[in-house]
Amino acid sequence: SLDLSQAQVTIEINHLSFGYTSETPLLDDFSLKIGQGEKIAIIGRSGSGKSTLLKLIQGALVPTRGEVRINGINAHELASTIPKLMAVLNQKPYLFNTSVMNNIRLGNPEATDEEVYEVAKMVQLHQMIMQLPKGYETNMHETGQRFSGGERQRIALARILLQKTPIVIMDEPTVGLDPITEANLLATIFDTLKGKTIIWVTHHLMGVEKMDRILFLEKGKITMDGSHQQL
Ligand code: ATP
Ligand code: MG
Repeated sequence: SLDLSQAQVTIEINHLSFGYTSETPLLDDFSLKIGQGEKIAIIGRSGSGKSTLLKLIQGALVPTRGEVRINGINAHELASTIPKLMAVLNQKPYLFNTSVMNNIRLGNPEATDEEVYEVAKMVQLHQMIMQLPKGYETNMHETGQRFSGGERQRIALARILLQKTPIVIMDEPTVGLDPITEANLLATIFDTLKGKTIIWVTHHLMGVEKMDRILFLEKGKITMDGSHQQL
């Protein structure tokens, strides 16, 4: 299969407008360019359109006006290539009715057990998993009660850390974490994701000082775009 793990990918959003209804658009004449390796935080209130913007970047929604171009090609025309370019952690990640091991390894079927342990350590779940009666062979659904929302999010985060894509998109990956755990986790994963483009959606400013650019999304527009120091 086509290996795009080392691809240099530029994302260009040109005068994009989008709304789910015909009333005032959620995103309005929105432009943004993201180069390979840039680390971008997108901050905005609940309902400001952050998750919608991520779907548009993945070509999963089609803009009403304007376009998203991935190395010059319309995102929604790249459908089958997108998964090779972008590893995506959704806000409500799906965990399958199989073992913890399989759920993480989904990110890369060729990953060894050691590599799975490695990413589980990065997201600070390894010890917790090892303490389960069946360890990594524990079925995610059977023991649904054992995993909190934040833990489920981090299982899915471990999964995307195994994916070999040039772009990583994360929709609130650290929800439910205390600030110290969050800071440690971010430091570790940023190290692992060096060279990759990171688009990270969050509600709050925690951890964003590690990013190259911080964007504020407000009323369909980017109201600020700069480094942590500039803001
Ligand atoms: P949060 O921080 O709560 O995750 P968000 O910034 O990610 O919010 P979106 O999920 O992009 O916001 O939603 C933006 C707006 O669009 C909201 O008002 C939401 O109700 C609406 N919306 C989202 N998905 C749909 C849909 N499939 N159909 C209609 N409206 C939708
Ligand atoms: Mg959202």
